Amino acid sequence: MTGGVDLHVHTTASDGQLSPTSVIRKAQALGLATIAITDHDTTEGIEEALAAARGSGLQVIPGVEISTDMPRAEVHILGYYVAYGDPFLRDKLSLFRDSRLGRAQRMVAKLARLGVSLEWKRVQEIANGAAVGRPHVARAMLEKGYVSSIHEAFDLYIGRNGPAYEDRFKLSPAEAVRMILMANGLPVLAHPLQVHHSVPELCAAGLVGLEAYYTGYAPDETDFLLSLAARHGLLATGGSDFHGEDGWPENKLGALAIPPNVVDSLRARHERTRASSSGSSLQPNTN
Ligand code: AMP
Ligand code: FE
Ligand code: FE
Ligand code: ZN
Repeated sequence: MTGGVDLHVHTTASDGQLSPTSVIRKAQALGLATIAITDHDTTEGIEEALAAARGSGLQVIPGVEISTDMPRAEVHILGYYVAYGDPFLRDKLSLFRDSRLGRAQRMVAKLARLGVSLEWKRVQEIANGAAVGRPHVARAMLEKGYVSSIHEAFDLYIGRNGPAYEDRFKLSPAEAVRMILMANGLPVLAHPLQVHHSVPELCAAGLVGLEAYYTGYAPDETDFLLSLAARHGLLATGGSDFHGEDGWPENKLGALAIPPNVVDSLRARHERTRASSSGSSLQPNTN
């Protein structure tokens, strides 16, 4: 399939397995038209991705995915066309990443008490300067044979209700929506199926879209989300949540049937927002 769209993609800047350049090369080999780079709590992979795609037919939308919490569920807010170089945004994201470091260390300590002995140094090597996440800890566990897959590490130890789970500082979903808006981005609720009840509250905070097309969503689930989006005047977006080849075999880059007009609508909204916020101190996106 050529001309495909994928608006939810991770790189080694967070917990993805391919570098930004490798992700771009893969998207080009697949003949995709548009991808968005949406790393967890970081925009550090975006410049490399833009540079790798420059001059080719592949359009790259700068983005980010902010992890937030509600009492019983994790809520992820995507931000498209964020002013990724803005110092205020970068400072905030770097605070989130700092809190990820301490939290990963606490998980390693908890795992040790459960008989899973990992070296903190090795987890850091695996993360290699990225926004450190549970998948990096999971890979260290896999490497030492404590689990047979990344999924098993989550199921047995570091999933939200697992014995080695540790929390960290997170914004509320509405705060993340406002933070994306302040960075001139378009906030979109990621993989919303389990958390769609938060849509009215997030709309009040300024949400502009809903990820209706997502890996594993059945056609009737996508239809439900499309009508929910329409009811609330939200844009529908979609993406695979690609993280690399191993670990998440079902999240395939560019494999979803996402209509190209999703990108047109998002871009049009971005252009309108940019026009109405000209004069802001944030740097404009150049993409
Ligand atoms: P963190 O950002 O450190 O809280 O880790 C969350 C990330 O772990 C998600 O973005 C996914 O990449 C991954 N993840 C979450 N749950 C699972 C699971 N059950 N199996 C495999 N990976 C998961
Ligand atoms: Fe992830
Ligand atoms: Fe997510
Ligand atoms: Zn994601």
